[in-house]
Amino acid sequence: MDISKNHPRYASLVSRKKIVDAFESGMLAKAGLIAHGRGETFDYLFCEKTHDFAIDAIRAAASALLLAKNPVISVNGNVTALVCDEVVALSKEVPATIEINLFYWTREREDAIRLAFCGIDPKVKLLGNGTKPKIKGTCSNRAKANSKGIPNADVVLIPLEDGDRANALVNAGKKTITVDLNPFSRTAIASDITIVDNIVRAFPLLVREVARLKETPSLIPDALVKFDNKANLRKAANYLKNRPYSFEEELICIR
Ligand code: ATP
Ligand code: MG
Repeated sequence: MDISKNHPRYASLVSRKKIVDAFESGMLAKAGLIAHGRGETFDYLFCEKTHDFAIDAIRAAASALLLAKNPVISVNGNVTALVCDEVVALSKEVPATIEINLFYWTREREDAIRLAFCGIDPKVKLLGNGTKPKIKGTCSNRAKANSKGIPNADVVLIPLEDGDRANALVNAGKKTITVDLNPFSRTAIASDITIVDNIVRAFPLLVREVARLKETPSLIPDALVKFDNKANLRKAANYLKNRPYSFEEELICIR
């Protein structure tokens, strides 16, 4: 399907196509399609824009990743479908380990994700979905982690994650960063740093911010000290609460 660049929801349609293609390639579970829809709804309400509260969280996230001893980026089918290139770029820039972690694991799904990453960089290293429970406080499937990855990580980036696992990682003492368009989700609230933005906009900005902070490391501590996740989530929720609704505004919104 050709998507016209003039379509007011061009970016959203491109993401939808990526998600549908990922489903057809076997990379995504059916539930992944629904999770994408939940994200789209919030993005609509946020006017498909990156807001200041997301920029502040991106700065804090970049700082935490750069200060980490063993940072791990956890990827699932949705993350791979939407920002495979940027995950590879981020893993090189930080540097950080990439670990596949799937809510509905199958060998075929993991292999399809590997194939997508190899298409970006044939040399990319990916830790596979662990087979043994390694994270306490969550049910067995969600507790699995690769023994070379998340169990030894001090900072974990878990975009588009479910709440139980986010909670368990926080309780395990990991500094937990997420990207989640829903500021009301358990993941958003449990995490230490929540980037309330669409991952397709947030990840390129995160890669750029990591590169920028590497040039000016003196900015790193300040970004972390100043960051208050709960206050930042309130800003996102207040944006929704005070969001104007008029037909004119809605039409401006999508331009
Ligand atoms: P909880 O964290 O409370 O368990 P949940 O059930 O919504 O909430 P999941 O369905 O496991 O969590 O994860 C999907 C989350 O990812 C949703 O909150 C959704 O808003 C968010 N999401 C989906 N697509 C995107 C996207 N492109 N960018 C950012 N967030 C997204
Ligand atoms: Mg969640």
